[in-house]
Amino acid sequence: MSSEEVEDMVESIISNIETIGEWDQVYQDFNGLLGYHDINTARIAQAAFDKGIFYPATLYRDASPEVRDQLLARLFDPACEEAGHLLLCLAQQGDEVIQEAFLRLERNPLSWRSKLYVNPSVYAHHGGGHFDEQGNCSSLYFKRCFTMLPGVGVDQAAKAGQLLEQHCPHCGCQLIDVLRLDGLDDRFSFLAVEGVLAIPICPNCITFTEETFIRYGVDGRSEIVFGEPPFDTENYCTETDLLEMSQNQLTLSTEAVPKYYASGGDEVITIGGWPEWVQDAHFATCPDCSQTMKFLAAIPWNVLMDGSEGTLYIEICTDCRTLCLFHQQT
Ligand SMILES: [Zn+2]
Ligand SMILES: [Zn+2]
Repeated sequence: MSSEEVEDMVESIISNIETIGEWDQVYQDFNGLLGYHDINTARIAQAAFDKGIFYPATLYRDASPEVRDQLLARLFDPACEEAGHLLLCLAQQGDEVIQEAFLRLERNPLSWRSKLYVNPSVYAHHGGGHFDEQGNCSSLYFKRCFTMLPGVGVDQAAKAGQLLEQHCPHCGCQLIDVLRLDGLDDRFSFLAVEGVLAIPICPNCITFTEETFIRYGVDGRSEIVFGEPPFDTENYCTETDLLEMSQNQLTLSTEAVPKYYASGGDEVITIGGWPEWVQDAHFATCPDCSQTMKFLAAIPWNVLMDGSEGTLYIEICTDCRTLCLFHQQT
């Protein structure tokens, strides 16, 4: 798309903003522009605010200070009826003013808090922001993002779905390195992994386990921390499935892609950037240092195995060399 075409589409979204909640053309156009063209959403946010539209929250990703302040004014009304939506919209923009406001609301809740399930700090996670009790803020995702595209060649910086020799102690299925990243490749310098990061899983049990933890070395050796058995230990993963997963030709993109690439509408593997959540945003707690882990990669299963459902999310604590993996599906 040329920049004129992008501009025309933005105009069309603005004129039809009241239909975005129908999950139809305007919704798809908006996600496509966000994911593949990294548009600034300031004008769209203004149009949405003028019509009282607060969904999807991503409309407000680049909300102007004026729109931000109007959202905050509504939120600071103790009788606010739409606090949940406003928190999600503000979390997307997430500047310092918003971080400070969230912290104040966390410490001094208004009466609408009793109608919500979680604190403002959890809403902040939906925009990728994290703050602790002392008010220290950090980001839960990497700003660089790469994808994996079909191709054959010598580029070995990332491999998906490589078969391993070991078998799962719970179900007997052969293990795979669902992802193997060469941290020494320039494209992965943002990860600060001084070697090969291997991510082994049992492709069968991973969907029957809430969270799986892995400790990684930088020599390509990683260890799955097998905890409680999964809630189903039958092996549904056939030889054919394993072969299909391991025979993909996916290759790391040569260039970085926009950080919201995963939300563009296609099923794609992303490494870094911001994921498209199937369910709620979820950030695991590092079992070693108790910090909130950072988003590393997402793999829609359908990319590796035609006809499969759901997405695998991988999060990382580089301080403790720990990974957390979990599966979401509708
Ligand atoms: Zn297993
Ligand atoms: Zn840690």
